[in-house]
Amino acid sequence: MSDTLFTLNSKLNFNPIYNNIYISCKKIKKESIIEKIKYITKIHKVEGLSDSEKEALQEVSKKYKFRSNDYYLSLIDWNDPNDPIRNIIIPKEDELLDTRYTELDASAEHLYTVAKGLEHKYKDTALILYNDVCGGYCRFCFRKRLFIDDNDDVVNDLTEALKYIKEHKEIQNVLITGGDPLVAPGSKLIKLLDELAKIEHLDFIRIGTKMLAFNPRVFLNDTLLEGLERINKIKKIKIMGHFNHPNEITSTTKEVVDKLKSLGLNIYNQTPLIKNVNDSSETIAKLLKELNKLNIIPYYFFQMRPTAGNFSYAVPIKKGIEIINEAYASLPGLVKTARYVMSHKTGKIEIVGSYEDKVILKYHRAAKEEDANRILMFENKEDAYWLEDYL
Ligand code: SF4
Repeated sequence: MSDTLFTLNSKLNFNPIYNNIYISCKKIKKESIIEKIKYITKIHKVEGLSDSEKEALQEVSKKYKFRSNDYYLSLIDWNDPNDPIRNIIIPKEDELLDTRYTELDASAEHLYTVAKGLEHKYKDTALILYNDVCGGYCRFCFRKRLFIDDNDDVVNDLTEALKYIKEHKEIQNVLITGGDPLVAPGSKLIKLLDELAKIEHLDFIRIGTKMLAFNPRVFLNDTLLEGLERINKIKKIKIMGHFNHPNEITSTTKEVVDKLKSLGLNIYNQTPLIKNVNDSSETIAKLLKELNKLNIIPYYFFQMRPTAGNFSYAVPIKKGIEIINEAYASLPGLVKTARYVMSHKTGKIEIVGSYEDKVILKYHRAAKEEDANRILMFENKEDAYWLEDYL
């Protein structure tokens, strides 16, 4: 595929070239389609950046890795320095300059690690850290520690994790996440799903993935699709998607989502509120409308977790409430299914709203039983980004 064509199509909301590839390869095994996607991990290989930008971003990408692919980069309008996809995936010098956040494990996930690659924070839910790579690295990632070379939070051998889940009958569902489970071969994921499907006390299994945005065609793999369809009849599988902005939804996304839906899979969406990506009520309303057209159910808006390198992407909670209230004011009830939450080390705290000069929070999920449904009320500060900012 020529670079010129990429440039010509970079202003479009989707790239017709990819659509054509998909259509012409429909009946061919997925492996041949995957070959069309080129992953890029060196910032100087990103053709849309100027030489001076490439030079300036070298240091950032040394500290916080860069990774994307030519499909996702083709969604960027390089003439717009504030393009939302660009702001999701291309490093910024601010990541090194703004040092307000220093933690790599902002939600203290290590506190809830019960076996290699397994977290158990909420009584009924277990989380498998399945992979230490994603289809791209979101600049605001709260798990960027997984991509740092000496990390050992993710393991290949999940024997210990499966044993723990089998022994803990209070666990009703498992979330497979990471890193992105869909970056690894489909057959490996199906093997794990088959093991989980045998566990009687599990009601459903979730797969956390941003591949519907980064590279939707990764789902068009016979082994994966057949496996998902088969296992979904035994244990319900829920795809937890991650669209941050409506520009990530292309005609290819739509075809793949339709395919997954036709197999009986439900798809949900969760996204943080991200400065210069989706921090306006118009963008959030448009994202929700686009998701609704695809029958994707909005699940969570996350407050940006205070992770090293992330502060320049964070939106103050007061502003977040305003954005969501304004967006929701123009939308029907069926579209307003997402809660605005803070994934705090003590639990998932819903940011309910504000009243006069107060902000109201409520534990939606609590790590400790005594916090369940607890309501918190604080002065509604302009510059509060996290629970500790109110204390
Ligand atoms: S998809 Fe999720 S885990 Fe992967 S880089 Fe983005 S935020 Fe991080």
